[in-house]
Amino acid sequence: MSGKITVDSKGKLQVPDAPIIPFIIGDGIGPDIWKASVRVFDEAVKACYNGKRSIVWREVLAGEKAFELTGSWLPEETLATFKTYLVGIKGPLTTPIGGGIRSLNVALRKELDLYVCLRPTVWYEGVPSPVKHPEYVDMVVFRENTEDIYAGIEFAAGSDEAHRLQGFLSDELGVAYDFSDTTGVGIKLVSEEGSKRLVRAAIEYAMSHNLPSVALVHKGNIMKYTEGAFKQWGFEVAENEFAAHTYTWGQWERTKAEKGQDAANEEQKEAQHAGKIIIKDIIADNFLQQILLAPRDFSVVATLNLNGDYISDALAAMVGGIGIAPGANINYKTGYAIFEATHGTAPRFANTDTMNPSSVILSGVMMLEYMGWNEAADAIKNALGETIKEKKVTVDFFNLMERATLLKTSEFADEIIKKL
Ligand code: NAD
Repeated sequence: MSGKITVDSKGKLQVPDAPIIPFIIGDGIGPDIWKASVRVFDEAVKACYNGKRSIVWREVLAGEKAFELTGSWLPEETLATFKTYLVGIKGPLTTPIGGGIRSLNVALRKELDLYVCLRPTVWYEGVPSPVKHPEYVDMVVFRENTEDIYAGIEFAAGSDEAHRLQGFLSDELGVAYDFSDTTGVGIKLVSEEGSKRLVRAAIEYAMSHNLPSVALVHKGNIMKYTEGAFKQWGFEVAENEFAAHTYTWGQWERTKAEKGQDAANEEQKEAQHAGKIIIKDIIADNFLQQILLAPRDFSVVATLNLNGDYISDALAAMVGGIGIAPGANINYKTGYAIFEATHGTAPRFANTDTMNPSSVILSGVMMLEYMGWNEAADAIKNALGETIKEKKVTVDFFNLMERATLLKTSEFADEIIKKL
């Protein structure tokens, strides 16, 4: 019997054998890559559970298709359906120019309060990469998804609002800054609750996946009360809520100040031997060089919205680019989750059946893992890995590989299905 995915009072997902899962087909290349991906999901579930389990797909509208059919870019019914069924998946959507909606993706994240943007980066053997050792990259980024400069509170240079805000800052708060008519203003918002729930999710992930560290990436040296506070609140979550499982660099600093560096190092070593997760912190610019120089030093990464945007694309490039980069937007409290490729609609390539569907396929893998259907998730990962190892690839990888076989989007899905 088909049914809804629900979440119990302990926050654990309850998944029926035939869950109804809403999907948005997406704009541009969305239909091509979705059609290929959904065949892979269905065949993997069939192969792994012999008909005992299946997914009941329910299409919901957003983007250009929604606008053509309903006059709305993001119909209320779509949001209501995601809320009803908890877990969904989407293709890329065109960001409408003008018309009030800033971005459909941002609207979905806001409406469902999807505070974690989860982006794993792992290399599949054979995928072309610009770095010498892409196999050293194995990180999971937890990007805060609702706050920061992305909250969208900004005013254009020369506008009445910008003038008034600048006046308030100068007159009421005594800010000594020479504002001019040519200065636009944006507001950066970082809260204790927002930071703590993000870092909490990252630590819980590290615990459940047996991972050695969580790195808090920030620019707290410059922005003390936003990015610096994020780091501080992150350490507090670890020390107050996960003391038995973590050791923070904040603790190391305190021990160093009280008893010297050797004692602090010894304490950290003991914590590592005891299997504790090390909660480190690193300034964002340094982090971007360290992922190139020493990627094996990092495992789970927790960071703010803007940093996370840059970081996840930089990491994706190291393991093959956006054609193979999956993502998820999750609220671990309510269970709401929307899985999606990290790239856009690539409109020039719409309906060409040429683009790489791996990003959507691997987003679906994340969804199956979230549902606890790990057998199907593993089967897809293995089959996709084998296909790439055999150099049977879509044009983006074909152009960078020697002696590869060029496949269409649909043929790439066929190859994966053969190997399930
Ligand atoms: P894009 O990600 O759509 O495409 C940039 C380039 O990346 C493409 O020209 C193509 O060469 C390559 N590419 C993208 N997906 C690929 C795939 N699956 N396989 C192989 N190559 C691939 O970025 P853009 O051109 O800046 O944006 C186009 C539209 O997408 C805009 O309307 C933008 O707002 C929207 N967008 C949507 C999302 C989303 O829905 N999550 C994310 C980013 C951009």
